[in-house]
Amino acid sequence: MDTLIDIRGVSHAYQTRHGPLPVLDGLDITVPQGEFCAVVGPSGCGKSTLTRLVAGLMKPDQGEVWLHGEKVTSPRKTVGMAFQNPVMLEWRSILENVILPLEIVAPAMSKAEKYARAEHLLEMVGLKGFETKRPSELSGGMRQRASLCRAIVHKPDVLIMDEPFGALDNFTREDLWQTMRDLRSNEPFTAVLITHDLRESVFLGDQVVVLSGRPARTQYLLEVDLPADRGIDILYEPKAVDMLHVL
Ligand code: ADP
Ligand code: MG
Repeated sequence: MDTLIDIRGVSHAYQTRHGPLPVLDGLDITVPQGEFCAVVGPSGCGKSTLTRLVAGLMKPDQGEVWLHGEKVTSPRKTVGMAFQNPVMLEWRSILENVILPLEIVAPAMSKAEKYARAEHLLEMVGLKGFETKRPSELSGGMRQRASLCRAIVHKPDVLIMDEPFGALDNFTREDLWQTMRDLRSNEPFTAVLITHDLRESVFLGDQVVVLSGRPARTQYLLEVDLPADRGIDILYEPKAVDMLHVL
C-alpha cells in the first residue's frame, strides 16, 4: 500500500523563557493511504504539536514529515483539520460554513456544485434539514458533525483531528464514532486522530500510536487487526488492555 504520511525521526523543542522545552523525541510514524492512525497519549505529551508539524504549520527541529512523497515545509491546503471546539461563523448558515474550504481551495467550482457536495456530506452525518440553521442553533455534537463535513468537503489528502470529540458527553461521542465510520465507508480518506480516549483510538484506528515520556517517544505501536465492524466493547480485547498499562 502507498505510504501517505511519513514522519521520520521527528524531534521538536519549544524555546521558552526557561530555555528549550523538548517535546517530541525521534518520532517515526507511517500511515498508509486510506488508513486511520490514532495517536494517544497523556495531556501535554506533544499531540497537538505533532498535528501542527504534519499540517506544515511548524517545522520540526530535526527529522522530516513527508506527505504523498513530498517533504512538508509550509502549510498545506490539502490537509483538513478538525478540533475539539470547532470555530464556526455565526453569521453564516451551517451549509455556508461547510462550503468555506471550497471557496478557498476550489474557487472555480460552481456554487451549485459546492452546495451539492456540502448537502451530501451533511446528509451523511445526519444533519439533513439543518442546512439553513446557524451554528448556535445546533447542539455541540451537531456542530462537531458539521465541522467534520467542513474538514473533508474539499477532499483533503489527510484529515487531522485534534481531540475532536473531547468536549462531548459519552453518548454523543460514541454516536460520532459511528458517524466517522459511516463517513469513511462512504468516502475513504486518510486521517490522524489525536485522542486521549483509548476506546476511541481502538474503535477508530487502523493503527494506534501511543506517545509517552518526556520528551515523548513512540512507546507502543498497535496494528489494529480487527474486523471493520468491531464494536465499542473492544476495549476488553487483551491487546488494548496491555496498552492501558503503558499509559
Ligand atoms: P498535547 O496536545 O499532547 O496536550 P501539546 O503539543 O499541546 O501537548 O504541548 C506539548 C508541550 O509543549 C506542553 O508542555 C505545552 O505546554 C508545550 N507547548 C505547546 N505549545 C507551545 C508553545 N507554542 N510554546 C511553548 N511551549 C509550548
Ligand atoms: Mg493537545
